[in-house]
Amino acid sequence: MSAEPGPSTPSHAPRGPRGIFDPQLLSACISCGFCLPVCPTYAVTKAEADSPRGRITLMRALEEGRLDTDDPALAAQAGRCLGCRRCETVCPAGVRYGELLEQWRDHQWRGLHSPVVAGALRAGVRVTPGLAAAGAVRGAARTTGAADPLRPHLMLGCLERSLFPRVSRAVLKFVPEADVPAGQGCCGALHAHNGSSVEAAAMAARLGETMPGTIVSTSGGCAAYLAHQLGEGRVQEISQFLLARWEADPSRMPRLRRLEIEGRPARVGLQDSCQLRNGLGVVAPPRELIRRVADYVELPSAAVCCGGAGTYSMLQPELSRTILKPRLEQASELGLDYLVALNVVCTRQLRQGVRRAGLQVQVLHLVELLELALED
Ligand code: SF4
Ligand code: SF4
Repeated sequence: MSAEPGPSTPSHAPRGPRGIFDPQLLSACISCGFCLPVCPTYAVTKAEADSPRGRITLMRALEEGRLDTDDPALAAQAGRCLGCRRCETVCPAGVRYGELLEQWRDHQWRGLHSPVVAGALRAGVRVTPGLAAAGAVRGAARTTGAADPLRPHLMLGCLERSLFPRVSRAVLKFVPEADVPAGQGCCGALHAHNGSSVEAAAMAARLGETMPGTIVSTSGGCAAYLAHQLGEGRVQEISQFLLARWEADPSRMPRLRRLEIEGRPARVGLQDSCQLRNGLGVVAPPRELIRRVADYVELPSAAVCCGGAGTYSMLQPELSRTILKPRLEQASELGLDYLVALNVVCTRQLRQGVRRAGLQVQVLHLVELLELALED
């Protein structure tokens, strides 16, 4: 990307394209507005600026020099978008909104203009030895040395290994032949979504070299980003991996019992991972797996972002909670016993919301639910 005027450069006349955005991507939007009804932030405020179309209008104004980088609307909207990419799923013009948002944040959040939280997280997950130490202390799956290209590789994730270490241990009960390569860093998804897409691509490439062959991820966001960078043939999210494996060879599926609560079948809902659903198109596999062990209950808002969205709950706490609220109300109304997540940030967001609301529903990662159903 080319250099651009500093954030406080006065703007009196159009300066022409600044080279912030890919012009083809930016020109694709036909302003039809089909995306407005599916956008979670527009649903809350009903303000055009909080919609995909409104944000693309701002991006165009930035690119053409009609707005300066430090314009308050630009600064606000770069952070208010969840990056959930739900708008892409209904767009008749095929606008690649997620890529536009990455380009916008690369520019808007560069250097010292980055939100402090985003910068701190990016820096924290950059240190591979630190991630390894945190995972070891918290009891995540133990690493097994250098990767064996013939075995599937379990990716530990940068946040998951310290926040939810049980998840990686549970995976090894279902995929015992997987190795857990040492020296795994972050996949770069967090950087790509928070203003450092060039560094992110380098991180993804490095991780791909550390783990040649099939990479299995328990985080929808990481799986989608890595698949985008390394190719879908290289990366499998855990629900895709397990379903394909068990369908190809049912004898590889361990004995699973039906989960019960007080003598009745357990009722289990799902929160989709936005990047997994909207970016990779993975919808059926997690639902299929839940149905094997419990009564699956589709939440009306399962496909809508939970408000976790990477760093969003820290950058936009109020809006994040408002976006989460319908999920918790639906989980309560539908009498769910378990609410399943497919991504570390969603798990955290849902658990915090459930705790704040004082609900009984238990939030688990999909493999934790399956582990509960394992016959001894
Ligand atoms: S649906 Fe697509 S083309 Fe229509 S306004 Fe939204 S982003 Fe633009
Ligand atoms: S990525 Fe999500 S929050 Fe952002 S404009 Fe698209 S639908 Fe709205």
